Amino acid sequence: NKQVIFRDYVKGFPKESDMYVTASTIKLQVPEGSNGVLVKNLYLSCDPYMRNRMNPPIYASYIDSFNPGSPISGYGVAKVLDSGHPNFKKGDLVWGITGWEEYSLLSATKALFKIQHTDVPLSHYTGILGMPGMTAYAGFYEVCSPKKGEYVFISAASGAVGQLVGQFAKLLGCYVVGSAGSKDKVDMLKNKFGFDEAFNYKEETDLDAALKRYFPEGIDIYFENVGGKMLDAVLLNMRNHCRIAACGMISQYNLEEHEGVHNLMNLITKQARIGGFLVPDYYHKYPQFLELVLPYIKQGKITYVEDIAEGLESGPAALVGLFTGRNVGKQLVAVARE
Ligand code: NDP
Repeated sequence: NKQVIFRDYVKGFPKESDMYVTASTIKLQVPEGSNGVLVKNLYLSCDPYMRNRMNPPIYASYIDSFNPGSPISGYGVAKVLDSGHPNFKKGDLVWGITGWEEYSLLSATKALFKIQHTDVPLSHYTGILGMPGMTAYAGFYEVCSPKKGEYVFISAASGAVGQLVGQFAKLLGCYVVGSAGSKDKVDMLKNKFGFDEAFNYKEETDLDAALKRYFPEGIDIYFENVGGKMLDAVLLNMRNHCRIAACGMISQYNLEEHEGVHNLMNLITKQARIGGFLVPDYYHKYPQFLELVLPYIKQGKITYVEDIAEGLESGPAALVGLFTGRNVGKQLVAVARE
């Protein structure tokens, strides 16, 4: 059983060498009378929050740290080989929390969803039909309370979550602008996902000026994925009653001291609202989410770009690549196709 092992807690930017691949000879089987589920992992998801799990436990707040010397874990798509749990049987396809290894013995009490629709690519259950998709859905519809015609700004807009938020906003009839870190990503936002405008934040010396260029009347909704200087610039460009969904702040995850934000007082004068959220709180809405999104995918009204790294060995590089923007679209690792 090939595994990706977490070497030790990380300071600063994570490196490929913070993980290593090895093979375990321990034979996995569902213990008699237990409700464990033995799975073969097919696709593993690379997600920015996994960086927070690389911190020593003392810093971890909402989530457990990885254990040095043990396989890392995260969301994935898998096939059930054996099950002691009444909800899962051999041959079922599932998505949820699994190990970064070829085979895992899972406790089904962790988030584990049976895949009911297989007429879409299975890899989508790491992205648009999995945790990032639910994040876009909950963050946009529930936290932002969007209305037709509103002015929407999304950072890290070409990624797993951002590309979907932008397309939801366009389908609702909003004016949508995204920021991303390369020319290719900017082109993708405009030409593939139908954003009205997009810009490369790395080429802007003055983010406030950039936002004024695209939002002369200000921003109604900011879907926050990066934090730091971008958040400060948005705070200077809000319309009255602006809503900010604090989804993530990836620019801060590798800093030992988080950057300060200076323009918070504008929340008062613009009567604005900023709201953080964690996606697992919304998993009970997964069926409604599928009802909305599956038809959009099948009718070609929403497209989704994935960046698939081949083989478990490519996992560490794919994961750390999130923090330099190496990924184009949703980053995942294909461990096996069936
Ligand atoms: P992405 O697919 O967007 O990958 C991360 C991207 O972030 C990179 O490709 C890069 O794109 C960008 N990035 C990396 N470093 C920086 C930086 N210093 N400044 C600005 N941009 C940077 O990831 P996801 O879509 O999966 O996640 C987006 C955000 O949503 C993250 O902050 C994540 O933590 C958060 N999240 C929150 C959840 C919740 O429950 N609240 C659930 C899931 C995700 P580029 O080339 O454009 O720089």
